[in-house]
Amino acid sequence: MATALTAGAAAVPGLAFAEDPYGASPFRKINDAEWKLRLPAKSYEVLRHEDTEPPGSDGVMLNEHRKGTFACLGCGLPIFKSEWKFESGTGWPSFYTFIPGALAKKVDLAIGVPRTEYHCAQCLGHHGHVFNDGPKPTGLRYCNNGVALKFIPA
Ligand SMILES: [Zn+2]
Repeated sequence: MATALTAGAAAVPGLAFAEDPYGASPFRKINDAEWKLRLPAKSYEVLRHEDTEPPGSDGVMLNEHRKGTFACLGCGLPIFKSEWKFESGTGWPSFYTFIPGALAKKVDLAIGVPRTEYHCAQCLGHHGHVFNDGPKPTGLRYCNNGVALKFIPA
């Protein structure tokens, strides 16, 4: 069940912030209709309505292997570094950690079992889910929608 995100952290129930350094960001004031105009259709559904792209459907980010940074397509906040990316075999870009402060997490019950989903800490766009089956050193797998990311080469 997708949940509409509107301006303000309170619009995403359950989203947990250790702190909220981006609370005054102009990206928080963008409404749903404006996001729809700003983003490609698939990216809009993922970032603003918690959709999930079909696995393997976004080959661009999945097959991006250059050195650089993966940032939020909605607001440009850097989230992952290329050296943290790994081949998970799932069809989604996967990372074992993220840039501190770039993500806020919440428990998602959409499929009946609790999963931890994560959002961009600045624009609150939905990016993906984190699982406990990743590689060392964290053992975590941040399973991210490719259409929610943009790549900035180093
Ligand atoms: Zn963002």
